Amino acid sequence: MKLDTACIHGVKDRTHGTGAVCAPIYQTSTFAHPGVAQSTGYDYTRQQNPTREHLERIMAQLEGGAGALAFSSGMAAIATLMELFSPGDQILASDDLYGGTIRLFDRISSKNGLDIRYVDTCDLSAVQAALTPLTKAVYVETPSNPMMRVTDIAAVKSLIGGRDILLITDNTFLTPYYCRPIELGADIVTHSGTKYLGGHNDTMAGFLVPADDALTERLRFLHKTTGACLSPFDSFLLIRGIKTLALRMERAQQNAQRLAHWLLAQNKVTAVHYVGLETHPSIQISRKQASGFGSMISFAVDSPETACHILENVKLILYAESLGGVESLITYPLLQTHADVPEEQRLERGITDRLLRLSVGIEHIDDLIGDLAQAME
Ligand SMILES: *Cc1c(COP(=O)(O)O)cnc(C)c1O
Repeated sequence: MKLDTACIHGVKDRTHGTGAVCAPIYQTSTFAHPGVAQSTGYDYTRQQNPTREHLERIMAQLEGGAGALAFSSGMAAIATLMELFSPGDQILASDDLYGGTIRLFDRISSKNGLDIRYVDTCDLSAVQAALTPLTKAVYVETPSNPMMRVTDIAAVKSLIGGRDILLITDNTFLTPYYCRPIELGADIVTHSGTKYLGGHNDTMAGFLVPADDALTERLRFLHKTTGACLSPFDSFLLIRGIKTLALRMERAQQNAQRLAHWLLAQNKVTAVHYVGLETHPSIQISRKQASGFGSMISFAVDSPETACHILENVKLILYAESLGGVESLITYPLLQTHADVPEEQRLERGITDRLLRLSVGIEHIDDLIGDLAQAME
């Protein structure tokens, strides 16, 4: 079955014989026991709920994982994931991560004794040089946020292969529709389901998708014990969102390709970062490991004044955080997603007061270009 079809028909609901086309929302916190020491398979919703289970089976199938765990947000998923590690463990992380992940690593994981070391994971020799006997994981976000840098997942895997090091990749930007990191060697895939998977800017969710049963079991224990599980209703919204994933990803990417080229031709635009441009330094790696480029663009303009002018004058495109929904959104990483990143680190990575990030939605391309054009005037 192709992925487009699997998004809709991949998992059959087992729990009802009514013929209902959509999996029901089991809006219950607990389940009655049929007898002493007996269970229907469901006891308490934090442990498992049929609606969430249905969603988890869909995600496991789409990513090619052994299982999947649905969380109440992407950060809840990553925070729970960090519970796999113990004080003293070293984690190498991409140096261009989602701002919330940096905040978690620097302010919480570090306090808990994890030794987080940032490295340019696009540079394999830098990864090689940073590995130590205490390295327990390499945490990769690709394409990265907001600079759209690409890490070669299979190449990182072969660097660490054979050692007891987990390769973790955040697949939020491409989703399994365009990239399946487990096939490239990842041990655990993380997601903010708030973004493309949900797809409608109407709910939050997160996922961990482990490649094998042992990891699934360890993470399931952490999931039910720490408790940031996705609610039945939000699970339903995710199931519904994923049904149109293929269509949305295709349309948004088509718009992004057009917009990236249009931006390149504007005299107030000084740089365009989009992984689908022929001039992107890693286009060959993207072609090798992904079937698409996604629809995230960042671009620099000639002055901070121009950046602010655009933010204040877009009418259709919304000046709002987040990404991956049907509505196009524009953000100012400096003041929003990356406000907590230390200035030095931010500037080193090119996150200046002239950089804007665009999450391209599924509106008509002419309206998107028209809106940006008038906002740039
Ligand atoms: C949004 C995002 C997260 C965090 O997810 P939330 O659902 O907002 O908690 C993590 N990684 C990436 C790449 C993201 O874009």
